[in-house]
Amino acid sequence: MKKYKIEAFENLVSAFQELPSIGKKSAIRMAYNIVMEDSFAGMKLAHAIEEGVNNIQRCKKCHNMSEDELCFICSDEFRDTSTLCIVQSAKDIITIEESGQYKGIYYIVTQLSDLDEYHLRDAVKGVEEVIFAFPPSLATDTMILYIEDKLANKEICFSKIAQGVPTGVELDNIDVVSLTRAMESRVKI
Ligand SMILES: [Zn+2]
Repeated sequence: MKKYKIEAFENLVSAFQELPSIGKKSAIRMAYNIVMEDSFAGMKLAHAIEEGVNNIQRCKKCHNMSEDELCFICSDEFRDTSTLCIVQSAKDIITIEESGQYKGIYYIVTQLSDLDEYHLRDAVKGVEEVIFAFPPSLATDTMILYIEDKLANKEICFSKIAQGVPTGVELDNIDVVSLTRAMESRVKI
């Protein structure tokens, strides 16, 4: 960015720009708003960021975002623990939870290189159905095959979300209605 010799402002703009989907114009607009127009909103944001970064960890069981060792889903005794939905990101859990239709539990596998087989086997204890809620792509198809293979000796049926999820689109860009439909019309694999 062009230097205006207002270092603190420039630093703030570049910090915003490092965030996903924030371009230079938006970064300048937000930084300006905070330093010149609404410093209270800025302090509130700074505090919320600090709280979020310090207090949110991964759930020990499913890797969801959590303020405690276990997330609110894993510690909810009314969830159906016989159905486990594997997603790529905790953001996908938010999207699915918004629909209010799914009552099972979750497990996050972002990429195969992060997958701890023993941890996964532990997570599927008592599970009868595993639903893959991955956005369709060659990479996620490979993940599905791999995970299925690792759990092949267990009595689990596998399904994946169906129509309504176009290829190459991330789940958080899909509206809740489409996603709910895709979960309902999941196909056995
Ligand atoms: Zn959890």
